[in-house]
Amino acid sequence: MLNHLPTLPAQPDDWTEPGAHRVSDGVHRIPLPLPDPALHAVNAYLVEDAEGPVLIDSGWAGPETQKVLSEALRSLGYALADLSQILVTHAHWDHYTQALALRESLGARVRIGRGEKYSIDGFDLTNGPFPHQADQLRACGAPELAGRIDALPVRPEDWAMPVGPPDAWLDDGEQVALAGRRLTTLATPGHTRGHVVFGDPAAGLLFAGDHVLPHITPSIGFECVPEKSPLRSYLQSLRLVRELPDALLLPAHGRVTLGVHTRVDQLLAHHDERLDAVAREVRAGATTAHAVAAALPWTRRLRRLDQLPDQHRMLAILEIDAHLEVLAETGVIEGVDVAGVRHFAVRA
Ligand SMILES: [Zn+2]
Repeated sequence: MLNHLPTLPAQPDDWTEPGAHRVSDGVHRIPLPLPDPALHAVNAYLVEDAEGPVLIDSGWAGPETQKVLSEALRSLGYALADLSQILVTHAHWDHYTQALALRESLGARVRIGRGEKYSIDGFDLTNGPFPHQADQLRACGAPELAGRIDALPVRPEDWAMPVGPPDAWLDDGEQVALAGRRLTTLATPGHTRGHVVFGDPAAGLLFAGDHVLPHITPSIGFECVPEKSPLRSYLQSLRLVRELPDALLLPAHGRVTLGVHTRVDQLLAHHDERLDAVAREVRAGATTAHAVAAALPWTRRLRRLDQLPDQHRMLAILEIDAHLEVLAETGVIEGVDVAGVRHFAVRA
């Protein structure tokens, strides 16, 4: 770790180990379990304050989350009912739904970025779990996969998930003044439209949500009502946090080890390589997002697209689609609609 970053207390080897792990004075990382074991866990952060502790991100609503969170709070001398407010980086279920559940039972005040209003208002399971993504897949030239995604049932437990607006929306630049510290809200659209991060410049910390993750590249625009070019926004949002003074990265998934600048540079380099690889496939004759995705290797094991399970295949094709959109906007390639499918070619 770089010298100018705050000193990090010792952390457990396994970042998912339950408990309250101190990362800075008055700031604790609390890993919470997730129903999908592939996702490992989500970090909530507890910020101690004279007016009552504040939680940043909340976990996936459910009795197990509540139990692990409550035990971690108890180890610090708090109860769930002590939480003064819950700040949420974005509306994905592993960050937002437990906040809504706690609001119902305890009245904690919940705040989230204003840009999440589109997907929160547009949330609707009546047409299946991924109706928008199925339409996107058709435009990407993957109608069969779209049909299978359309046919996916909504899991019974998902109907019971708490949804709805927060108590207050957070705006870009808004200062969250606690008794003992000031958090700056920064809009970082990309992973979702309304994603925000919270900076604590005095302590040298960035609560980064899913915007900057240490081990993986976050999905882009995977939400009910995405914007037209989520990757463009995402890259802009990466450059935005790169311009801030460096800070310790407090991610929603994974360990605390890195400075924000180091990881943002890696993510920007990754997307540059990805844009080059996608442009290369278009030059070689792949015209749709589906065709480009089929031509590229996936995962660390370099698997073919058709070896991936359907939901991963969907994410892969949508990721390529977002890269094609950026290449089209920057004039490297151009796209035309043919019978509802977007076809791309290198600009003459
Ligand atoms: Zn997320």
